Amino acid sequence: MATNGVASTNGKDRSRSPKKELKTDPSKLTEEDLQDGFSVQQIFTSTTTKSGYTYDDLICLPGHINFGVHDVSLTTRFTRKISLKTPIVSSPMDTVTESDMAIAMALEGGIGVIHTNLSIEAQAEQVARVKKFKAGFIIDPVCVPPTMTLQELEELKSKLGFTGFPVTAGGKMGQPLLGLVTKRDTDFVTNRNTRLSEIMTPVKNLVTVKEGIDLLKANNILQTSKKGKLPIVTESGLLVALVARTDIKKNVEFPNATKDPLNKELLVAAAIGTRPADRERVRALAAAYVDAVIIDSSQGDSVFQHEMIKWIKKEFPQIEVVAGNVVTKQQAKNLIECGADALRVGMGIGSICTTQEVCACGRAQASAVYNVAKLASVYGVPILADGGISSPGHIVKALSLGAGAAMCGSLLAGTSETPGEYFYSEDGKRLKRYRGMGSIDAMKKGSDDRYFGTTSAIKVAQGVSGTVQDKGSIHRYIPYLTQGIRHGMQDIGAKSVEDLQSMLQRGQLRFELRSAAAQREGGVHGLHSFERKLFDA
Ligand code: GDP
Ligand code: 5GP
Repeated sequence: MATNGVASTNGKDRSRSPKKELKTDPSKLTEEDLQDGFSVQQIFTSTTTKSGYTYDDLICLPGHINFGVHDVSLTTRFTRKISLKTPIVSSPMDTVTESDMAIAMALEGGIGVIHTNLSIEAQAEQVARVKKFKAGFIIDPVCVPPTMTLQELEELKSKLGFTGFPVTAGGKMGQPLLGLVTKRDTDFVTNRNTRLSEIMTPVKNLVTVKEGIDLLKANNILQTSKKGKLPIVTESGLLVALVARTDIKKNVEFPNATKDPLNKELLVAAAIGTRPADRERVRALAAAYVDAVIIDSSQGDSVFQHEMIKWIKKEFPQIEVVAGNVVTKQQAKNLIECGADALRVGMGIGSICTTQEVCACGRAQASAVYNVAKLASVYGVPILADGGISSPGHIVKALSLGAGAAMCGSLLAGTSETPGEYFYSEDGKRLKRYRGMGSIDAMKKGSDDRYFGTTSAIKVAQGVSGTVQDKGSIHRYIPYLTQGIRHGMQDIGAKSVEDLQSMLQRGQLRFELRSAAAQREGGVHGLHSFERKLFDA
């Protein structure tokens, strides 16, 4: 296939032979004369290469563009059976992925992995929240009790940013709906001690609908009734959800959403460990209809993990198992032969991670991704390039080296859907916490399993705790990332991830290594000051 305008090598790596002088007659120029850079095979398997490389060491050479950026398809494989329209996965970390993040990631065409620093019940509940989610329905609206004063309501409003609240008997979801309190009920009330029961619009004057209604019908009712909020209740009047008029105006359709083709539920994954108690966890997650489990371990090639994979595949064959982490072909082969449906690749290269310093083990990430992806492709098993991704360009490089998708922690940390509250730094920056699952703080919450540390008297940290800046909502951030990836693939001349990887295998995708000076040149340089605005939407 030479459709991308990249000189065909017919499977042969001609640039191994010393380059001849260019011919002086343009009509005599051959494909070989026009070949630049190196194939990935030459870079990673040359007998003189003793270094490991990472994303920044490499640069992709551009190809020929004969299609628009919107024609680029990012559809890819997360596991043997699950494909994604957006090749991004949010990492199972307690400052990155709980249900809000997993919902947003799935709506945007990726997938989220709920972390395992939660009790079994709490993690299963998080999975259930994703499975129950319906776009456009607020399934867990903040409710208030009738005894709340206007003063208290004002405080809640300024904290949350919205002004309409269902009033339920005890101020919680799932309780009898008594009324609704909105700006129209409170605007002209001067006494701040007034109870909401005195000013709310009572349920008998509200338009409500019964549970089971679909979004289209709910939206029609909101439009014809001209109301701002539509509470959804059970036969006996218990509140189960809310639909807001503003959401009709927003795009409630997510064309890329990662959904079950039959029941249209969003797909979600959850992390587990390899202890005997984790079998209980898997049972609870299976009962909550989890689609994939990720065995969370910094060194995945252990007898514990082998047994866990075999047990899950025997007991719950419907659940996809992502095994790892691995960085070598031998580790990968061992896990695939136990039944892994995908592998997570990366060791000691995460932004918050100190494994290579503390344990002397790991591998530079581009080398790990290329080598493991090559081995895994023999078995038809996709891999996730996990960690070390700090830009859309890194994702393009991960895909170019054979990854099915990129798993990201720091890149997605700081978005509004991650767990934790924002706070301000001394210089006025809006921040959220982001910490390694091998940091002392996180391990105290349970994640020491990932580092084989539960029974040790001394916990050795393999990660740090830090902060990241506010990145806004995933619903704005992921489209920025995917548009960047599309531009990168267009520049390379690949119309789809499949094309990209076929170009890789046939040596059509060309790379060069960058010197330290070339890397500096590839970043912003030589300015007195500059402002970095990531996108304009
Ligand atoms: P309000 O009229 O001030 O309540 O706000 P809008 O209805 O205009 O906007 C509220 C936005 O916040 C909508 O997009 C909702 O989907 C979203 N939202 C998320 N959680 C909640 C919640 O618990 N209650 C309400 N009222 N809105 C929520
Ligand atoms: P990031 O995207 O921030 O560069 O890396 C996230 C990845 O780092 C996670 O998906 C996980 O594989 C890994 N990770 C998370 N916490 C720790 C930690 O404390 N230590 C180490 N060694 N790796 C971590």
